[in-house]
Amino acid sequence: MDPHSQMQAAWAHIITTYKPGVVEFMGILLTQIIGFIFPATLYMLIDILFPKFSQRHKIQDARRQPTRQQIQHCIKVCLYNHVWILAFHFVLTSIRGFNHAHLNLDPTVPSLTTFLVDFAFGLLAREISFYYIHRALHHPRIYVHIHKMHHKYATPVAFTAEYAHPVEHLLANVLPITLPLYLKGAHFLSIMAFSLFELWEAAADHSGYDFLKLPPAELHGLHHEKFRVNYGTIGLMDWLHGTDRVGWDRPKTKQVKIAE
Ligand SMILES: [Zn+2]
Ligand SMILES: [Zn+2]
Repeated sequence: MDPHSQMQAAWAHIITTYKPGVVEFMGILLTQIIGFIFPATLYMLIDILFPKFSQRHKIQDARRQPTRQQIQHCIKVCLYNHVWILAFHFVLTSIRGFNHAHLNLDPTVPSLTTFLVDFAFGLLAREISFYYIHRALHHPRIYVHIHKMHHKYATPVAFTAEYAHPVEHLLANVLPITLPLYLKGAHFLSIMAFSLFELWEAAADHSGYDFLKLPPAELHGLHHEKFRVNYGTIGLMDWLHGTDRVGWDRPKTKQVKIAE
């Protein structure tokens, strides 16, 4: 049996065995654990298990790394954000006895082409929406109330990806990943696959390590270091708006290219 037929058989088994609300809730729970909590924990363990490798690949200076207490606090806030999103989904699905799903649980598994189209659409929609939401969060009137919390860690570690005010967590972390594909009517499996990638990317972007050049952790690392640069995720919107240079909002002579 080819991989698509195997997936089709597994999916058919899942949706005929469990209620739609259970499939949806468990899918979201597993996506958060596999996509974020597991890789973020692995990134944190690098420092403990492979200290020399860790030092070689840390983007920022070792002296600027957060303390153990700061990391513990960050993990608590991050888990709180995961729990309230899950609790919200649990209420939404349990209220109707788990008999209804809000996402598209079509019995037919999407083809590879549909997966790839959904992925490209999700990537672009996330880049555009996250860029503008993130820039708005940097507006002086909004920044101190919401986004300042996420910037507490000038030297990020993986869990700081979701160290955020609840409003920011919903507007900048959850909705740009899920809403465009939901509105497109994409299959639940497409949304899960895309969310898994994006959550891992968020953990990698904040990991503080450079050993994986994709996704561009350096771009977001620089954002945490210099604030007013690299508001997007993949660099496209920053390139379009010229915000990929430190000092883009100052006279040209003071601008520095990221590559320099
Ligand atoms: Zn960040
Ligand atoms: Zn920011």
